[in-house]
Amino acid sequence: MFELRSRGKGSAVVFLPWLEEQVAADSLGKNVFSFEEILKFKMFHLLSGFKGGGLVGIRPYLEKADSPNRIDPLFVKSVCKILNEQNIEPILCDTSFKFNDRHDNLTRHYKNLNKTGQNSFHCESVPFALLDGITGEQEICIDLKSKIENVSPSTLTTSSLNDFNAYLAGEISELGGLIMLTSPHSHPQSGINGAIKNLGFGLSSKKGKIKQYSKSKPKVNPSNCTLCGKCIVNCPTRAISKGPNQHVIIDHDLCIDCGKCVNIAYFGGISYDFDASPEFSQLSTVIQALGAWQILQNKITFCNFLLNFELDQNGEKKVINIGILFSKDPVAIDQATIDLINEGHPSLIDQVMDIKLPVNNLISLAEQLKIGQREYELISVAY
Ligand code: SF4
Repeated sequence: MFELRSRGKGSAVVFLPWLEEQVAADSLGKNVFSFEEILKFKMFHLLSGFKGGGLVGIRPYLEKADSPNRIDPLFVKSVCKILNEQNIEPILCDTSFKFNDRHDNLTRHYKNLNKTGQNSFHCESVPFALLDGITGEQEICIDLKSKIENVSPSTLTTSSLNDFNAYLAGEISELGGLIMLTSPHSHPQSGINGAIKNLGFGLSSKKGKIKQYSKSKPKVNPSNCTLCGKCIVNCPTRAISKGPNQHVIIDHDLCIDCGKCVNIAYFGGISYDFDASPEFSQLSTVIQALGAWQILQNKITFCNFLLNFELDQNGEKKVINIGILFSKDPVAIDQATIDLINEGHPSLIDQVMDIKLPVNNLISLAEQLKIGQREYELISVAY
């Protein structure tokens, strides 16, 4: 039913151009239908690797209802439907994120999704789970030192990164497959918030997330500390004690940077400084992505939604929809995202990447660590 045009060589990236309203009535319905057909199209192998049993995760891109980066819930429901039709068991999933923002366990996370209108992806009979467990504490640690040592030293010596472990949500190794839905957009630390960032940040444990933004251990905020003592009893290494003044103190020599105290200090008595440079964050994100890739390689399908860009035309706002990209390679799909925008709508490029940052650094690092390749074959689908 499709006409396919292909150019380039490398990892396969499928491009479904967006059908606009002017071309078809019910264009959203038609776009959703084509999205489903592409996922099911055997030649693209997008669902391959999911047949070994087990649950297949769908990680929707969670954004508030009014965000331009929000992916229409119809697409999420479509993925659930397709998996169910193929007798694959879908599960909607996320990981707990940011300390002290009330997303730190399943109940608070879900309540927050409801409050901010983010859970419109909800699909009947498809459960929602946190991949780092109901309390956000389940973690697996993967030692990647030997893999990273093979990378060009010049790249690594530019950073003071000294931890080559990936800290990931503990349940990701239980997944039989994963579909990552991403709405790529500019990001002040990583440059581009695309498939690589979603793989690295989205599947991290709390510790893994913090390590992408903070280079230091937690600090005490004396004025917020109520001396309740909860952090003292919960610290696994007894690094916290009552200080001489009316607040706790942390012995950073004993601290293993697990972050538990930051969660427990409910009134902000302990927190992290987000002091990592973009260069540090990018490398740290790619290391996290490499850890996830070790576990889920061949089992992930990435979908980048290049939709809802805002173009200012002589003071008038126009929405530009480009289309949807699909690939099994996160590096290729992010490179194709940038290239497609540069080719068709160069004025939109700052919406998809922070042009002040060496964005290609993230993509290049991911390629050096063999998460994928920037060379790709673009297979365009014509109706
Ligand atoms: S981060 Fe973990 S080890 Fe360090 S002080 Fe807090 S609870 Fe203790």
